[in-house]
Amino acid sequence: MKTVIVGGVAGGMSAATRLRRLDETAEIVVLERSGHVSFANCGLPYYIGGVITDRNALLLQTPASLKARFGLDVRVDSEVTAIDRDAKTVAIADLATGKTYTESYDQLILAPGAAPFVPTIPGVERALALRNIADTDKLADAVATALTKPDPTAVIMGGGFIGIELAENLTERGLKVTVVELANQILAPMDVEMAALVEKHLAKHDVTVVTGAAVSEIGTDEVTLSTGATLPATLVIAAIGVRPETGLAEAAGLALGERGGILVDAQQRTSDPAIYAVGDAVVKVDALTGGQALVPLAGPANRHGRLVADVIAGREVRASGVQGTAILGAFGLSAAATGWTEKRAVAAGRKIRVIHTHPANHAGYYPGAEGMALKLVVDAETDAILGAQGVGGSGVDKRIDVIATAMRGGLTASELAELELSYAPQFGSAKDPVNMLGFIAENLRDGLTETVQWHEVDAEVAKGVQLVDVRTTTEYGRGTVVGAINIPVDDLRARLDEVGDDVIVHCQVGLRGYIAARTLAQTGRRVRNLDGGYRTWARI
Ligand SMILES: Cc1cc2nc3c(=O)[nH]c(=O)nc-3n(C[C@H](O)[C@H](O)[C@H](O)COP(=O)(O)OP(=O)(O)OC[C@H]3O[C@@H](n4cnc5c(N)ncnc54)[C@H](O)[C@@H]3O)c2cc1C
Repeated sequence: MKTVIVGGVAGGMSAATRLRRLDETAEIVVLERSGHVSFANCGLPYYIGGVITDRNALLLQTPASLKARFGLDVRVDSEVTAIDRDAKTVAIADLATGKTYTESYDQLILAPGAAPFVPTIPGVERALALRNIADTDKLADAVATALTKPDPTAVIMGGGFIGIELAENLTERGLKVTVVELANQILAPMDVEMAALVEKHLAKHDVTVVTGAAVSEIGTDEVTLSTGATLPATLVIAAIGVRPETGLAEAAGLALGERGGILVDAQQRTSDPAIYAVGDAVVKVDALTGGQALVPLAGPANRHGRLVADVIAGREVRASGVQGTAILGAFGLSAAATGWTEKRAVAAGRKIRVIHTHPANHAGYYPGAEGMALKLVVDAETDAILGAQGVGGSGVDKRIDVIATAMRGGLTASELAELELSYAPQFGSAKDPVNMLGFIAENLRDGLTETVQWHEVDAEVAKGVQLVDVRTTTEYGRGTVVGAINIPVDDLRARLDEVGDDVIVHCQVGLRGYIAARTLAQTGRRVRNLDGGYRTWARI
């Protein structure tokens, strides 16, 4: 049996190597348009930044090494230009020689990925994108040239993961970077108050973030924004997002999903049973709803590439849904997310509970503890975990990965309280931040506490609800939620006569507020605790 694979990086190469491990007799041909296969696309920004200094480190395999170890027929500079489904052949343009030829297949796997979206604005030919090794070489040269100029600057269009990674790396190289993002926040897989933490961290490292604006024109040394403002721009980067490469599939009459990717079933089969598709080019199944989702991440591409090989080798397997678990590093800060954001859950009409906490990565008394902000989005009716986000120093990755695993296993939010996680003071806490989220979820589920979100406070105060800051007088003096009176939690029992019947309490992060809320609730008052405390409220 002969399997032809279009695209030789994440999804395509996972399929090729797994298929060989399952079937020594299979004929496997990999056709890759660019000059390299199996390269480390996720590492490209760090080569630009000089963190990875050896360009060869990005090139994980070559056609020769893949031939030697896996007996694969890998052809670079080979673009598949058409699929003849009746004849079961693909047309190939050899970009090195200019020749064209056809190749037959028994099974075809499409793994063409997604192309950077480039806006149609005047001067856009000066914008550089980053997808492959050729782009990397071009960008590295452009950075070197920019650094020969006085006060070199870069404007990055798009505040997604790649845009922010490049912002860090170009700053480290000595460029003054501005990120221009059309939405009202960077990092779409996070909610606005969590993304705000990343924006503040970028500002500390001299990266300017402009939200609510787009680049409308690119000039010789500057860009013009939709607001009319101009920004100096020695270098311009397009990191606005990616679009599934569906041209081949579409021309061959394969079905596409409602959001534009190639439609596949649970075995990654397209509407033609001899053609499979994986990776950024395909529509994936949302793990929460079973609906269609575009999730351009390396994990699902590799997983599904491996799965296709299993299917072709006759194993009974099914692709699972995707949660979109992702992480970003920027100047020592981690920002990670899994599942749905609050904004997405609200847009989907879900009744939700939201929890913000600000734990330390390990016991506070052990030197070197670093803070983080965690957020959990919970289905109010079923207690199911809909999503989680984390921003902070060490340990964010661990918490989001634990929650992603819990989601995959179908644990409820309250069941996070029961997880037995590794603990010694330098690694965590006896009540791990993930357990704490579970405790709060359980209290909310059982009605032991009621919370109000940072964006709901103004409307409640307008209705006449009293605001009480239960932190110390010193903390109160440094700034409080607008309109709050101050009764420190330790004085509360003695000053009950100052507290109304309907009250929102708040402290710094939510813990003392919870204690105050329990005290007041037992006096018959309606009490809500400001979720995430003053720290979350003050972020926006
Ligand atoms: C700079 C950068 C950083 C990233 N960082 C991360 C990260 O940190 N974490 C993460 O999860 N994901 C990251 N990603 C995303 C991740 O790389 C992709 O999700 C993953 O590579 C998708 O795999 P794929 O096989 O679908 O496509 P790709 O890996 O993009 O491979 C597709 C290949 O198909 C080739 N091709 C397309 N059409 C044809 C054709 N007609 N004929 C022949 N060949 C063709 C293309 O040249 C391309 O090389 C990053 C991506 C980039 C660009």
